[in-house]
Amino acid sequence: MRTRLGRQLCAVLLVVMAVMGGFVSGAAAQEGAEPVRTIDARAAGNSDRTRFVIDLEAAVEFAAFTLADPYRVVIDVPELDFSSLNENSRDGRGLVGTFRYGLIAKGKSRMVLDLTEPVNIDESFVLEPLEGQPARLVFDLVPASREEFLEGVGKLKSVGTLPTKSPMASVPTPKGPGKMVIVLDPGHGGIDDGAIGPGGAKEKELVLQFAKDVRDALEKYGDFEVLMTRDDDTFVALDARVEFARTNGAQLMVSFHADTVTQAYVRGATVYTLDETASDGVSKALADKENRSDTIAGVELTDKPDEVADILIDLARRETKNLSIAFARRLLGDIKPAMKLNKNPRRSADFRVLKAPDVPSVLVELGYLSNSGDEKLLESAEWRRKVAARFAISIETFFSRMSKNAG
Ligand SMILES: [Zn+2]
Repeated sequence: MRTRLGRQLCAVLLVVMAVMGGFVSGAAAQEGAEPVRTIDARAAGNSDRTRFVIDLEAAVEFAAFTLADPYRVVIDVPELDFSSLNENSRDGRGLVGTFRYGLIAKGKSRMVLDLTEPVNIDESFVLEPLEGQPARLVFDLVPASREEFLEGVGKLKSVGTLPTKSPMASVPTPKGPGKMVIVLDPGHGGIDDGAIGPGGAKEKELVLQFAKDVRDALEKYGDFEVLMTRDDDTFVALDARVEFARTNGAQLMVSFHADTVTQAYVRGATVYTLDETASDGVSKALADKENRSDTIAGVELTDKPDEVADILIDLARRETKNLSIAFARRLLGDIKPAMKLNKNPRRSADFRVLKAPDVPSVLVELGYLSNSGDEKLLESAEWRRKVAARFAISIETFFSRMSKNAG
C-alpha cells in the first residue's frame, strides 16, 4: 500500500518535474555551471534512528525544514542532476517512507522525505569528498511526538554549509520569516486550450498573462514568494497543481479561468470556493468542464488515498475552508471597483483544483469568453494590469490583517 502510494506521489512529482522542466532552461546553481550530479541516495537504520544519505559528485549546501500532514522533511539544495538515481533510490527504510526529488525553481532542487511518523532532525551535515568517497549530505532522524513535530513545522530546521566555499555551491535561499508563499495557477495550457472566445482569444493564454500581471504586482510588496504552477504554454494536470501548492507550503492558491457558458449574455467575474456537494446548475456545469482538463490531456486519474478518517486532517480542512471563504469575500470587495462582477459573484462548486486540504484555495473566473465584451476586456493589457493590481492589494491586505490578528 505504502509503495503504491509512494509510486503515486512519485508520479505526481514527475509530472511537476516535467512541467517545470518546460520553463526552467536547465539553469545551474550558478550561471554557466552544470548541476552537481547525485550518485546515490539511501536510507539506513530502523525506526529508532534512520540515517538518510545522498552521495554527490561535489558538496552542496542545503536548508531543511519539516511539513505536516503528511509528515515530511523537505531539503532545499542548488539544482542537482538526479538522472543517475534509479527506482530503488526512492524506497525508504525506518522512518523514511519514500524519497522524492525534482526541480522546484530555476537553479533550485528540492528533495522530500515522506516520513512514516513524526521525527526530529537529530543531526545533519555536509561532507566534502574524501579519497574514494563521494561528497555527502547526511540526515539523522529520530522519532518525535506529533506535538514536537508540529512545533517545528515550516521553520528552518537545519542548514548545511560548506567548510570552504566551493565555487560550485550557492546558498539556497530558505523562506525568510514572514515570507508567504502564494501559488498562482493559470488554468489549462499546452494541449488543453480551455475556452475560445467569439473573437478567437484562448483562455489558456489570457489567464496566463493575467497571472503574470498579478505576480508582478505582488512581488513589488516583497512580502511574498510568488510561485506559478506554469509560466508558459505547458499542460499541468489538476492534481499536480494541488500537489505543487502543498509541497511548497503555500499559504494561498489562486486559480485563474475565463470559461464559456451557454448563455452569451452572462458576464463578469465569479469567485469560487470548494463545495463537494452543494452547487447551482451553472457552477456544476462549469466545474465539470474544468475537471475535464486532465481527460483532454490524456492524464490518467489516480485514486487518492482516503484521508477522511483522520480527524486532524478533517480539522485542517475545515480551517482551510474558512480561510478560503474569508479570502473569497475580501477579494470580491477589493476587485469590485476595478471590474465587472457576475450577478451572483460568490459561488462554490466541486473543482478538483481546489481540493488541497491544507492550502486555502479559490478559483476565479475572470469573465466569460462566451461574451464578447468580457473577451475584449481580458485582451486589454491595460485592463489586466489595473485588475491584477487590485488582486495584489487584496492578497497583501488579507495576510497583513491575519498576522495582526495572530500577533
Ligand atoms: Zn477554464
